[in-house]
Formats: sequence, C-alpha cells, structure tokens
Amino acid sequence: MRTESIVLAVAIFLIVVGGAGTIWGWVRRRRDQRRASRLPHEYFQAVSYLLEERTDRALAAFIELADRNSDMIELHFALGSLFRRKGEFERAARIHQNLIARPSLSRMQRETALRELGQDYLRAGLYDRAERIFSDLLEGKEQEVFAARNLVAIYEQQQDWAQAAEMRRRLEKLGGGNERDIIAQYYCELAEAARLQGDAAKMRRALAEAKHNASDLPRVRLLLAQSAFDRGNFREALRGYRELLENELRLAEVVLPDLASIFPRGARDPDFDGVVRRLLDTASSASTPLAVAGLKHTRLRSPAMLEAIERELVLLVEPMSERTVASFMDSQEVRTALIRLLTEWVAQRPLYLCRICGFRTQTLYWHCPGCRNWATMQMRQDVFPEPEKETAEHA
Ligand SMILES: [Zn+2]
Repeated sequence: MRTESIVLAVAIFLIVVGGAGTIWGWVRRRRDQRRASRLPHEYFQAVSYLLEERTDRALAAFIELADRNSDMIELHFALGSLFRRKGEFERAARIHQNLIARPSLSRMQRETALRELGQDYLRAGLYDRAERIFSDLLEGKEQEVFAARNLVAIYEQQQDWAQAAEMRRRLEKLGGGNERDIIAQYYCELAEAARLQGDAAKMRRALAEAKHNASDLPRVRLLLAQSAFDRGNFREALRGYRELLENELRLAEVVLPDLASIFPRGARDPDFDGVVRRLLDTASSASTPLAVAGLKHTRLRSPAMLEAIERELVLLVEPMSERTVASFMDSQEVRTALIRLLTEWVAQRPLYLCRICGFRTQTLYWHCPGCRNWATMQMRQDVFPEPEKETAEHA
C-alpha cells in the first residue's frame, strides 16, 4: 500500500513535471520553428494507465518514454528519485550517472544530478562514494549547505567525530544556527572512547574541546566529574556529581552508581545517604528517578533510597481503600514482595523515551538509535505501573 502511494505520488509529479516540460518545449518549438508539435503518444498512454490505476504499466511506459526522449531531463530526474524511494538504489544511480555523462547538461543540471547520485550512494550505504560526491559539491556555492549536511550524516554514521565537528562548524558559518551543543556531543564521544581505552590525556583533550563548545551540557558535566574521579580528585568529582544531580535528576540512575563509588562505604556510607535524602526532600518529583536508580542498582539501596522506593509504592496503592492499603503497607512481607516485583518491572521496562521519535530503551543513549538526534532521551513519566483505579470500587 505504501509503495503504491509513493508510485502514485511520484507519478502525479511526473505528469506535472513531464507535462509542463513537454508543454514548454512544445510552446518553444512552436514559437521558434513556427510549426505544430504535440506531446508524444506514449505520454498519453502512460497517463491513461495511471488513471486506470495500473501503476506498474504506467511506470514502465514512463521509463520507455524517458528512454526514447533523452531531452526530457526532468523526467529522468523524477524516475531516478522514484527508484531511490522504492529502494532500487542501483537503478537510481544508473539514471543519475547517465545524466552526468551527458556533455550537453547545464552546470545547474549537472550539480543536481550529482546531488541525486550522492543521495543514491548514501541510501545504498556506499559511504566512500557518497563522501567523494558531497565533498566535490561542497566547493560550489549552490549545494554547499546540502552537501555539508549530508557529510555530517556520513561522518556521524562512520563515527568520525572530528570530521563531523569540522563540518558542523562550516554549517554554523553558513548561517545554519548554533551547532555547539552537538559539536560538544562529538567530543564527549571521543572522551568516552579515550576513557574506555584508559587514555587519560586523550580524554582530557577531548573534554576540554567539549567544554569549550558547551560547558553546561549535562553530558559534559558528567564526564568532567568522571575525569576528576579517575584522577583521584574526589572533592571535585563529588561537587560535579552533586551539581549535576541537583539540575538533572533524570540522570540519577546514571550518576548515582558513580557517586556511590566515591564514598568509602559506597551506598552504605551515611554521607552518600545524606546526598540522596537532600535530593528526596527537595521536590516531590525526585522520588521517581531516585526510586528507579535504587530498583535498577540494588547496591544503591541506602535508607533514603528505600524511602524513595516506598513513596512510589504508596503512589501505586493510593487508589485502594484505606483498609486495603493498611493491610498492604503494614506488612513488611508484602512491602518486600512489592519491591521485588518493582525491581523485576524496572529491569525489563524501557526506562527512556526519545521525545522526537518515541524510541524506547532500557539504557540512556545520548545519540538516539531511532532518529539519530542528540540528547533527546528522557526518563519516561510512566516508568512505574499505572495504579488500577477499579481496585478501589472492588475493595
Ligand atoms: Zn529518536
């Protein structure tokens, strides 16, 4: 059904473009040569197939028409675009290569054909070829922004963060808006990779660049605290983690395991518990991200963390009658069983949600695997099961 509608949409485009082009050619020839001319018979045949909804026949007729009428450049472009949208990248690329090979093509048409061919290669996953084409197009003024955007996509795909950053800077100069936050994300990627390799110097260099671009970015602040921790500078690390939590509680599940490792007795340390308690007392909305952290990382269950979990339990049984709630919450066994159930729930539940594409995941990604946008993941509002309202009536 989807392919059908794409074929139909492009076919309508073909009628408009092909028809307009042909009519224009007809008008021009009539004017110049002062003799009658008419649209090719095959053109009307193809259109009648379309009206009969015989889209495959119509498409075949348009292809034949394009083969016989090489001067209908727009028709070739439209067909190339159609094939690419149908996933027939090789066929699309062949059309665009043939167009480029024509010596009669104007500079503008040639650039358009290159732009299309670059997209064919990109969609086919032929990144080297796509990169060459977009790098060439970067030199011409008309296609510069388009080429730079596509090169960004290629470099991100190949995780070539340094080149991607350079291209974003170029886009910024071309008036494309502030790219600093995303450039900082690239350097965070480099810093994280260096941290995994145990290359502290490389990590610091990447982090300095990230900070230079966007010092307030939560990910930059997280990495700065981690870097301080790695260097054994626990005071700086503690300050960094605490500031981060105060402003970005949605990151509790990511930050608290690191924070706990600063304290001599980990989460059993009263000072760690004090940090959690202050967060819990700051806002009622703090209990959800804290409870998630405590349920996901069982070693973090300090007294304050258990209180955050209990608060979520109360919210869960709230719609029940007082008598039922009392029988639930007064029993240590019932509470333990409920916490165990919630622990299993959180272990399987996608905790994060991309606000752009709706991608759901257990792990926080800074680069959404669904839509390839940066820093779009948020902790779900509905992490915990919704209370059953009917229970109150049955009780
Ligand atoms: Zn997304």
